[in-house]
Amino acid sequence: MQHVSDNIIADLAAAARILAARGVVDGFGHVSMRHPSAPDRFLMSRALAPALVTPEDIVVYGSDSEAVETTAPKGFLERYIHGEIYRARPDICAVVHSHSPSVIPFGVTDTPMQAMFHNAAFLAQGVPVFDISDRFGATDMLICDCTKGVALAEALGDKDVALMRAHGSIACGPTLQTAVFRAVYTEVSARIQHWSHALAGGGPLAALSPEEGALADQPNQTAGLRAWDLWRQEIRAETGW
Ligand SMILES: [Zn+2]
Repeated sequence: MQHVSDNIIADLAAAARILAARGVVDGFGHVSMRHPSAPDRFLMSRALAPALVTPEDIVVYGSDSEAVETTAPKGFLERYIHGEIYRARPDICAVVHSHSPSVIPFGVTDTPMQAMFHNAAFLAQGVPVFDISDRFGATDMLICDCTKGVALAEALGDKDVALMRAHGSIACGPTLQTAVFRAVYTEVSARIQHWSHALAGGGPLAALSPEEGALADQPNQTAGLRAWDLWRQEIRAETGW
């Protein structure tokens, strides 16, 4: 296996804990990143609650979403989400899958998610909803094989976030830091949209336009990553790595 630096492995383990600390994942959910020197592979923790992940838990997966090492510990059932998005979208280098609760209502109603503030600018291009029953009928709702992973990646299209009906969402980015930022602010923006909707009595919301979203996403990917530095430092203080 190609070598991956200890710092990158530690950042990926920390990302799982950051998402847990921000309420994006709980006992479930996962984050992965594309292998930095073998782009047809990705790195992800073994099946484990995100708040418990350590660098020792990170496993290398191949393009079929199966562990490269035959002795690897058990992986997440829904690892196919990650493998098929990396295959479909060369620009994406990190993926978060969560069941964060404020987002779920937008997958089971006709109300589309909007970018409610500048930190959530990446939502302004639209947020597709993947309905697993469209192609697979009644299922356990899980993306538990490559075929379902391909269908989800197709629904994501060229967007950065997609909802999964009555299940959760995915947030992606060109870096691990950006994907974590987007997963956190998808949940925060959803919460703000619920509050705004209540205040507006169901009337229209003056959210970011697609053009404003495209402009505001640029500083988010640079200066906005100050948030990552803060969150990463919190995990380092807690774990020592
Ligand atoms: Zn799930």
